[in-house]
Amino acid sequence: AKRDGRDRFAVFDPVMYTDITRETQQRADLERALDEDQFVLYFQPIVDLTTRRLVGVEALVRWHHPVDGLVGPDTFIPIAEATGLIVPLGQWIIRQAVRQLAQWHRDNPATTHLRMSINVSGRQFQGSGLVEEVTAVLAETGVDPNAIVLEITESMLMQDVDATALMLQELRDLGVRVAVDDFGTGYSSLSYLKRFPVDILKVDRSFVGGHNADDTTLADAVLGLGRALQLQTVAEGIETDTQWSTMRDLGYDYGQGYLFARPASAVHIDQLMADPTSP
Ligand code: C2E
Ligand code: CA
Ligand code: CA
Ligand code: CA
Repeated sequence: AKRDGRDRFAVFDPVMYTDITRETQQRADLERALDEDQFVLYFQPIVDLTTRRLVGVEALVRWHHPVDGLVGPDTFIPIAEATGLIVPLGQWIIRQAVRQLAQWHRDNPATTHLRMSINVSGRQFQGSGLVEEVTAVLAETGVDPNAIVLEITESMLMQDVDATALMLQELRDLGVRVAVDDFGTGYSSLSYLKRFPVDILKVDRSFVGGHNADDTTLADAVLGLGRALQLQTVAEGIETDTQWSTMRDLGYDYGQGYLFARPASAVHIDQLMADPTSP
């Protein structure tokens, strides 16, 4: 290769340069969105699979984009993670979700048993601020720590075992519960899972089949794991009556999915809670 100035200049690969510019731009967009309150939490009901009664909700973030409309988390959470903006965004999500639960508990005594599940990303988990953040918002709102469920993915458990186990223990010491999300997609074994202090297993919706025997076998195996560890179990992505009855009859405790309710704004959830016969 030539060793002149032009060649060295090629270190600034135009593709890479574009990537960096794009990332800077995306981070700036998300930062502005956070500043301008463009994020909004939706909430999806979680029900008791036997009675179909509401036991809690999962907070799911959306972006009210001024031009594109309502944008789903799958498009911007990865960018927020890559750019580090997930840390302030995640703080906002935790605060917003816990405050919302406090308001429901306050406004409607029939909802005091309701739990709030909050997704926590790997990057939030690596920083040390999470425990302090949760502590602060619990103190501010007076919400029972037991009503808060932090959802971490199975793949996060596979990162740094000792640090993760320590962090989970600190959160548990606060009294909050921990759920393993998307469970079944990360191949953790019983002996592996045993090392982490968790309370709840959420089986990934790819296991919630109910259409053929294979699907049921896997869902049953995951349930066996949960039971061996004395964890509560949640089946995600229940869309049909067959899926519901299959997971219920297997013995899953809780369920979540479009059959029961789609994620909705707080106002919609208010209406739902006002009507005791729904969802
Ligand atoms: P997740 O945590 O596994 O959330 C469940 C996703 O499944 C949600 O998608 C929900 O709308 C969708 N879902 C619920 N019931 C059904 C169903 O019956 N059928 C089908 N096909 N889908 C169903 P959503 O809201 O688009 O969120 C996608 C992912 O984005 C979440 O997956 C989670 O990993 C991430 N995410 C969402 N909100 C947050 C957040 O506040 N913080 C972080 N860190 N991640 C979030
Ligand atoms: Ca989740
Ligand atoms: Ca999930
Ligand atoms: Ca997921």
